[in-house]
Amino acid sequence: MKKTTVGIIGCGVAGMTAAIYLKRAGISCLLIEGQVPGGQIIDNDDIENYPGFSKISGSDLALAILKQLKELEVEILYDQVKEIKNGKTKQILCQKEIIEADKIIIATGRHPRKLEVKGEEQLRRKGISYCAICDGSLYKEKQILVVGGGNSALEAALYLSRLAKKVILLHRRENYRAESFLVERLKEKNNVICQTGEVEEFKGKDHLESVILKDKTVLSCDAAFIYIGQLPTTDIFQNLPILGSDGYIKVDSHFQTKEKGIYAIGDCIKKESYQIVIAMGEAATCALSIVRGEQNE
Ligand SMILES: Cc1cc2nc3c(=O)[nH]c(=O)nc-3n(C[C@H](O)[C@H](O)[C@H](O)COP(=O)(O)OP(=O)(O)OC[C@H]3O[C@@H](n4cnc5c(N)ncnc54)[C@H](O)[C@@H]3O)c2cc1C
Repeated sequence: MKKTTVGIIGCGVAGMTAAIYLKRAGISCLLIEGQVPGGQIIDNDDIENYPGFSKISGSDLALAILKQLKELEVEILYDQVKEIKNGKTKQILCQKEIIEADKIIIATGRHPRKLEVKGEEQLRRKGISYCAICDGSLYKEKQILVVGGGNSALEAALYLSRLAKKVILLHRRENYRAESFLVERLKEKNNVICQTGEVEEFKGKDHLESVILKDKTVLSCDAAFIYIGQLPTTDIFQNLPILGSDGYIKVDSHFQTKEKGIYAIGDCIKKESYQIVIAMGEAATCALSIVRGEQNE
């Protein structure tokens, strides 16, 4: 069994920032990541609100933070966490290993919400995707549907408009939740069509071929990118009394949950805005509170 002072679950910007603050204060920590380090930022080609850079891609930002972690000799364990146990000791049960930690920081972020319509699951990775940057290049010069009306949907539509022959942006309403500058940028693209409607079914045998809308309109498309919001990645913590009814983790002003020694930061907690610098700020506040606690023990 591996032992650490602070076990951090999730290697997104929140988890990585917490690790930097802890390690620099001389507190041992272990970052645990189930997929690819970086988290959601990997899905953003143009971050334009990260101070210090007028524009930076999510993957470049993730690589820069990972370089800093390497320089600080922060250990990253690539394993999927299945459960945490808060008994006499705190244990993080992963697929391959069990980690014993004095304290745990949960930084598991969010994942895309699904439309939950017929054909969506069967055609996933066969034309249906939730990540334009990961899969967009597979559909060069093709006809692509983007579903959604928030910032992420419009950013995806703009990104895909550089690759695709035609992008159809499908939204339930005529008004977008996205920031107005994104709407303006989209209007300048002559290969993007904005349409109102709701998806009823995705059709295709081995690959997506068309989408049927609730008003029975049929749209032919080679790919559909779904951006209709995010859900907290917190299912594995249902054994602990730390979740609200919406699945987000509830924390106090030091980002500690109801369970002493278990903290949560970043997009997995309930808050008004979900942004990189906000997640990083929470991570710094939480880590510094742990540092102060360790110094007073
Ligand atoms: C398309 C898109 C565009 C965005 N654009 C911007 C922008 O321009 N500017 C901005 O400020 N913000 C933007 N955001 C929001 C920003 O990306 C998030 O607020 C931020 O990345 C959240 O970081 P996080 O570390 O809390 O969570 P995440 O990035 O979600 O990271 C969580 C990590 O935990 C890992 N994990 C989850 N469960 C487990 C488990 N059981 N075991 C092990 N590991 C696990 C995941 O694999 C993931 O790597 C955007 C988000 C999206 C989706």
